[in-house]
Amino acid sequence: MKVGFIGLGHMGGPMSRNVLAAGHDLVVHDLRRDAAADLEAAGAAWAASPRSAGAGREVAITMLPTPAHVEMVLLGPDGLLAGLPDGAVWIDMSTSVPTVADRVRVLAAPRGIAVLDAPVSGMAAGAKAGTLQIFAGGDADVFAAARPLLEVMGDAERILHVGGHGAGYTVKLMINLLWFAQLTATAEVLTIGTQAGVDLATLRRCLLASPAASNFLERDVLSVLYDGDYDSSFSLALACKDLGLAVDLARNAGVPAEMSALVEQVYRRARAQYGDEGGEMLPVRLLEDLTGTELRLPARAPEPYSPYPPD
Ligand code: NAD
Repeated sequence: MKVGFIGLGHMGGPMSRNVLAAGHDLVVHDLRRDAAADLEAAGAAWAASPRSAGAGREVAITMLPTPAHVEMVLLGPDGLLAGLPDGAVWIDMSTSVPTVADRVRVLAAPRGIAVLDAPVSGMAAGAKAGTLQIFAGGDADVFAAARPLLEVMGDAERILHVGGHGAGYTVKLMINLLWFAQLTATAEVLTIGTQAGVDLATLRRCLLASPAASNFLERDVLSVLYDGDYDSSFSLALACKDLGLAVDLARNAGVPAEMSALVEQVYRRARAQYGDEGGEMLPVRLLEDLTGTELRLPARAPEPYSPYPPD
């Protein structure tokens, strides 16, 4: 299949490498010319503009930071839409909102160009391994035709058609909102409990054996607790973008979202403190800095982790 891929960052870089490795004819574009170096060495062609990345392509994929970037890449005389041939498919895998895609669809429909939103979960490691979770919104027949291509980037079992246009964006934003809320709440719980005198490992073990257990506490927080790694593969700038979009979504849906707004503020504080490129788990460090104590466990537990260790 002839594929164009725009946005070769933490996620789009490895995702496009998987598309190429699956044998597709690949053209790539990014603002950063050097982001394509290894792809070109492996056989991909470079396009100097979004328009030329779309020229003659059956499918074009975008993996860009924000809705504003998606708009910049799609529209205008040098945009992707101007380059795509009639009958092509545009798949936006960015975490975004439907506003831009809605506008693109109005222009694309008379030319028979189909649109899917298909954002992903699974971090840079999942992008590399080709095991991303993918949530697609749009027409079922367009999704079915795109599925084989999505399967080279994601886990076949977890590639889901979740509804009409925009549903994929919404599901993805809700996943991130809940995860960021869990991170913020877990950081507070671990900090309060340890500052009140309970050993961190004991506190975590008791929480895991209780109704308050979560995947976040069992698995995701371990990079901080064992390695002091706050996951810079997903930046605070992107986390704040997602939280802003989620709160906007709540506003547009007429749903009060006090807690979500508070989580967004905590993330904005972390971004102001540690910078745009800081890792998505740095809100934990806000509390560590405030109390002057790092939340650390002495050594990695043997896998799989059990809340009931043999002692
Ligand atoms: P990134 O910042 O690492 O990469 C974005 C890429 O887009 C960069 O290479 C940048 O140069 C390029 N770009 C920006 N504007 C452009 C333009 N006008 N024309 C061409 N190229 C342009 O971001 P990322 O971490 O890869 O995230 C991409 C999207 O995926 C975001 O929407 C993010 O929220 C989402 N996402 C990220 C992760 C993660 O763990 N990093 C996980 C799931 C979803």
